[in-house]
Amino acid sequence: MLLRRCRVPQCLNSAFFRQDACLQHSADAGAARTAAVDYLLSEARITELSFDGLRLSALTLSDKTFEQCSFRHCVLEQCDLSRAVVNLCFFDHAGLDTVSFAGSDIRRTVFGMAHIIDCDFSDSELCECNFNGITCGNSRFSDCDLHSSRFIGASLDHVSFRNCNLHEVHFGNAIPVECDFRYSNLEDAHHHIPGRRLR
Ligand SMILES: [Zn+2]
Repeated sequence: MLLRRCRVPQCLNSAFFRQDACLQHSADAGAARTAAVDYLLSEARITELSFDGLRLSALTLSDKTFEQCSFRHCVLEQCDLSRAVVNLCFFDHAGLDTVSFAGSDIRRTVFGMAHIIDCDFSDSELCECNFNGITCGNSRFSDCDLHSSRFIGASLDHVSFRNCNLHEVHFGNAIPVECDFRYSNLEDAHHHIPGRRLR
């Protein structure tokens, strides 16, 4: 992925959507945010863009394709991304609150360290994704193919992994509380969690 860097020397952020600087160093961050939201709503296929730090509230973004896009440190609340196609995207350190990715096809995408609350990933392909270190509560991954995804060190509180393919899924050092793994092939996952049992 080749996202341009912010024009400010020493700034490690990506240049925000169609800007030469990140949101923090943008001359008009308000206009940049509005243009980015308009673009997300209008385009069916969104590729190689950074939306880092953007807040997305109550947006319908279902059935869209996202390729090699960055949503790091974004806040997504009450957004509908059902049936989305997401490939090689970055949601690390994002806050996802009441977001639906139901019926999506999400591959090689990073959600590391994200806060994921009241979200629905059910009935999705979620292969080779990185959920390491997430804090996840009251959310559903039911009926998903999670092949080769990683939840290392994740805090999982009332999360359903019911009827999932967990082949080669890594749950090392995850902390599951009241999680549902029924009808899933947990025996094919890596889940060495000291003093705890997944069920
Ligand atoms: Zn910057």
